[in-house]
Amino acid sequence: MTFDADEAFARLLHHRDGSLRPGDPVAPPIVPASLYFLPGEPTASHQYGRFTNPTWAVIEGALAFLEDAETVAFPSGMAAIASVFLSQLRPGDRLLLPSDGYYTTRILAETYLAPIGVVVELCATVDYDTRDLTGYRIVLVETPSNPGLDICDLRRVAGRARTAGALVVADNTTMTPLGQRPLDLGADVVVASDTKALNGHSDVLFGHVATRDPALAASVRDWRKLVGAIPGQFEAWLVHRGLESLEVRFDRMCTSAGVIAERLAGHRGVRAIQYPGLPDHPGHAVARAQMTRFGSLIGVTLADAAAADRFIDEARFVLPATSFGGLLTSADRRARWGDRVAEGYVRLSIGCEPTEPLWNDMARTLEAF
Ligand SMILES: *Cc1c(COP(=O)(O)O)cnc(C)c1O
Repeated sequence: MTFDADEAFARLLHHRDGSLRPGDPVAPPIVPASLYFLPGEPTASHQYGRFTNPTWAVIEGALAFLEDAETVAFPSGMAAIASVFLSQLRPGDRLLLPSDGYYTTRILAETYLAPIGVVVELCATVDYDTRDLTGYRIVLVETPSNPGLDICDLRRVAGRARTAGALVVADNTTMTPLGQRPLDLGADVVVASDTKALNGHSDVLFGHVATRDPALAASVRDWRKLVGAIPGQFEAWLVHRGLESLEVRFDRMCTSAGVIAERLAGHRGVRAIQYPGLPDHPGHAVARAQMTRFGSLIGVTLADAAAADRFIDEARFVLPATSFGGLLTSADRRARWGDRVAEGYVRLSIGCEPTEPLWNDMARTLEAF
């Protein structure tokens, strides 16, 4: 039977019902604990704060419904990515990363993995489909890529990489499990920054690793326990609360993004629009086949850096900020970070504002140019 995301989300919302006793609070407790009462042989379910925590278990349990896989929580997306790299890679292993993906992942690999003998290679997201994938220990895929929103065929890439013996890791941050399901398309591992749409309230950093391979999950969990890259209890609780409204938020965000991308594409002030949901996106057919939504990010190319900055500063309902996926629409001119995109390229993150006022504000701002 194929995965029913609506059913999974409804089960996620009610995942604690069975454990509630009369008078219990419906919201999960925040359990601040470094020590647990531990007499005799250390066999209790909780032993020490770096190993386990009841509030981590709540968010991991909820995410497991959505990923349909075992989930391990981390204090940031980068900690989740690092846990997979550092628990799996050994000197001499080859690692393939997208040259146009989230840049910190490349910096992490080049700064800490290359010096200990991991061979780090880069490939543009659109070239993954034709790249020879033999000989890699890990192939990391990020589709749509951040910030360029290029697409590759996840099922094909995962199939070819796995046949060649690689562990296939998909960074699914931009889509969340509600927009794309890499594990169902053949990836071994999902890594994600829940700092973005999954939490959605721009108030916490968080991340997770999901996999259906129990040995791999155990290895990532051990890495977290030994390194101590553990989430805070309050952060775990906040992400659980954010996650509970993900389905309605993501629906609004993706619906608005579709409407706004189409209107921006027809606007004379705009040079180019990159949105996987538009039929003229080069990856549209693949996106249609592998994504359940087209996402909340739009790549907008304006004339130059000045035009991009002006758009971001003058639009009332567009918050100038890096990052994405929040309730508030925000925008970031990515060339200011050194990304290899046009100077006037704006990564626009559509939020939860009602669509028409948001569009009217953008249109008014562009008209004034
Ligand atoms: C933000 C982001 C990350 C890193 O997440 P943090 O929570 O900031 O550590 C990783 N991958 C992608 C695609 C991202 O957008």
